[in-house]
Amino acid sequence: RPRIGVLALQGDVREHLAMLVRGGADAVAVRRPRELAEVDGLVLPGGESTTMVKLARTFELLEPLRERARDGLPMFGTCAGMILLADRIEGGVEGQETIGGLDVVVRRNAFGRQVDSFEADLDLHAEVEEAGAAAETSLDGPFHAVFIRAPWVEQVGEGVEVLGTVATGPASGRVVAVRQGALMATSFHPEITGDGRVHAFFVRLAGAAR
Ligand code: GLN
Repeated sequence: RPRIGVLALQGDVREHLAMLVRGGADAVAVRRPRELAEVDGLVLPGGESTTMVKLARTFELLEPLRERARDGLPMFGTCAGMILLADRIEGGVEGQETIGGLDVVVRRNAFGRQVDSFEADLDLHAEVEEAGAAAETSLDGPFHAVFIRAPWVEQVGEGVEVLGTVATGPASGRVVAVRQGALMATSFHPEITGDGRVHAFFVRLAGAAR
């Protein structure tokens, strides 16, 4: 079983730990550099991206997080976590820092103030090609997603694979799930809907990278 951490500075940590266990991982909370050094993968939860970066700096985790992302540690960011993995942010506060690694432009609070939170159906497409991937590593098909003051992906670089787009409604076609190598990110919160496929996919990705 891969050992997957959840960055536990702020945000909905417990829901992610539970989903990771369901997906076949040993799940641990990560608050210190020593704990970060011991995981095979890391989830960056939703919450507030500016607060999370400040706390990461205070806990002396920001540089270690950047290093591990550069070194190829599988990371999965949801919502604020997606913002943390983005190389570029629109609609952020002046000079907002990130961990980076995903060659994307992410727009914060992209769906607008009126719709603080909403649900939408998605089309997901993803396969883990590495390391003898089996049929169950596929993440294909419809997915019901919950968005909470969510970002969207406005531009993707060449090496970035689009895993999911909104299927219906006014935001139809918007990119809300991406992957680049070992890094993946979703605008939505797969930890709170009871559908474990996205976490199971990440656990397999991290297991394959081990
Ligand atoms: N709007 C938040 C941010 O910019 C993200 C919201 C979330 O993670 N649910 O950090």
